[in-house]
Amino acid sequence: MSDTCPCGGSPSAAKSKQGEVSYQACCARYIEQGQLPPDALHLMRSRYTAFVMENETYLKHTWQAAHRPSHVEFDVGAQWLGLDIKDFVPIALTEKHETAEVEFVARVRVAGKATRLHERSRFVCEDGQWLYVSAVNINA
Ligand SMILES: [Zn+2]
Repeated sequence: MSDTCPCGGSPSAAKSKQGEVSYQACCARYIEQGQLPPDALHLMRSRYTAFVMENETYLKHTWQAAHRPSHVEFDVGAQWLGLDIKDFVPIALTEKHETAEVEFVARVRVAGKATRLHERSRFVCEDGQWLYVSAVNINA
């Protein structure tokens, strides 16, 4: 078992000699060290990693207050298999108001059954901090 970051390794993170991106070099800086992700793409990756690690605190911390659930549900026994980013669209409405959309496919196995979660997520930047707003499911 490698220590490759669950998100697969953000392109901006330092790679090891083996070409892998460790959790410590990738999402840990946002999840554990309080650094702010520089954009919605890095937030998306770190939130996927937090889902894999069932880190409810981080997920709630990076959820826009108006949409934040009181409790994050995790599927018992879910095995996350990987994250593919399909699209990343930063939208600067004004210099002070930025939003972004990230389309992704996350693969997960629950109770022996593999499924694909295909969503387009919306993010907003508030006071320099990127937050998750909501997602549209495009599985259908
Ligand atoms: Zn990562």
